[in-house]
Amino acid sequence: MSVDLEPRTAPPYNHFTQIGDPVLRIRSDEVSPERLDSKEILGIVDQMVKVLRHYDCVGVAAPQLGVPLRIIAMEFREEKREQFTPEVYLQRKMSTLPLSVFINPKIEIIGDMQHTQPEGCMSVRGFSARVARYDRVRVTGIGMLGTPDELELVGWSARIAQHEMDHLNGIIYIDRMDVSSFICNTWARINSNGGRDVITFDK
Ligand SMILES: [Zn+2]
Repeated sequence: MSVDLEPRTAPPYNHFTQIGDPVLRIRSDEVSPERLDSKEILGIVDQMVKVLRHYDCVGVAAPQLGVPLRIIAMEFREEKREQFTPEVYLQRKMSTLPLSVFINPKIEIIGDMQHTQPEGCMSVRGFSARVARYDRVRVTGIGMLGTPDELELVGWSARIAQHEMDHLNGIIYIDRMDVSSFICNTWARINSNGGRDVITFDK
């Protein structure tokens, strides 16, 4: 399902902005009603979906493409299951999530239960940490058809929604992580390669 993307040096980018970019630390703007079905917004959404699939990740927020607007896209394709052992898939409460786009999303926490699991971010490439997230949320907003949409999510899908919503408020998972669990994902490989390894930011 990967699509080829030409490099772009102006937003919306075809790559993920990286931590340090001010766009990741501001509160993004609402999309005004008159802009909702504009070519500009449809183009941004289209590009978010392309980047999401090209990088084979599960969520993207518009600021991650350099656009400070309140738009998120999430998808957990069935094929992704193969990237995890059955134990991990179960333990992290992963499940298939069809492509879901929300403009001006709101999130409501349902219940107090939280799960702590490893989490990473395409805007903090190469690292991960354990983060506590609520188990069940309701997301509402403008959906892909430009009409109000609502989704109730549990487990990993609820985690994705909370992570992407945070991006719209300038919050990155490292602000919420268990600090002592922060790791470089390839630390072991770095040792076995005599210190040689690279973090790539494009794909
Ligand atoms: Zn992220």
